[in-house]
Amino acid sequence: MLERKELLKTGKAKSLYHTDDPSKLIMEYKDDTSAFDGKKIEQIAGKGTVNNRFNSHIMEHLKKNDIPNHHLEVSNPNESIVMSLDMFPIECVVRNFAAGSICKRLGLEEGMKMEPPIFEFFYKDDELGDPLINDCHITAFGWANEKDIEAMKDLTLKTNSILVSLFDAADLILVDFKIEFGLADGKILLGDEFTPDGCRVWDKETKKKLDKDRFRLGLGDVVESYQEIAHRLGIDLT
Ligand code: ADP
Ligand code: UDP
Repeated sequence: MLERKELLKTGKAKSLYHTDDPSKLIMEYKDDTSAFDGKKIEQIAGKGTVNNRFNSHIMEHLKKNDIPNHHLEVSNPNESIVMSLDMFPIECVVRNFAAGSICKRLGLEEGMKMEPPIFEFFYKDDELGDPLINDCHITAFGWANEKDIEAMKDLTLKTNSILVSLFDAADLILVDFKIEFGLADGKILLGDEFTPDGCRVWDKETKKKLDKDRFRLGLGDVVESYQEIAHRLGIDLT
């Protein structure tokens, strides 16, 4: 049994703790829910445990499909053991359909199909509002080298193909998502989380929003919708 040591960092949705094994961390999922770069924050009872189980299922599915990631095991209802990574300060986003910031930026109608899917990098900085960046910014500012930039793009697009199929089989549309990568002993791994907090998911028939847009837009039934996605994907939340 790994022993929880001091806090390493705490963000808007999770806290990370050192353990007695320097290569492993405990990732604690909070009920805190934030949007608009932390300007809207609320506690949503049960979200932490749902996201922990959800993330574990997706990370295990990705691992089986050759996407190396930091997830090791669920250790408590709202905690998992992960490999400690040196994170890139970068968010990798893929869009299969237009929604959110790209609609505002390019004047697109929500729901327009992106063919092929669009890949975007964002610089992870709440104070700057996570600005859109490209490869040149990443190289010039030394945030990642060219090999890691290519690996992030390649792994993100592969993750998209794997998860689009998984969600489609459950009559769900994976509209877009954000993931983050880091290094462990020089090897690039998918880190952070894959949960309905960081993706958009619509019902295939009705196009009902089942993700964090329910919180952003004040639509209600946030955890219930996350549970609905989990149920359809066959994820055991107990
Ligand atoms: P934020 O408020 O930064 O969006 P979260 O509340 O989700 O973040 O906190 C998670 C933090 O932990 C993020 O800064 C993320 O980059 C970082 N992180 C995720 N996975 C790992 C890992 N395996 N090792 C180290 N840091 C990680
Ligand atoms: N996303 C995220 N964290 C962020 C920014 C975006 O998880 O800090 C996710 C978001 O949930 C969506 C995708 O990335 O699934 C694309 O987000 P977008 O750029 O449209 O930004 P938004 O308008 O949602 O802030």
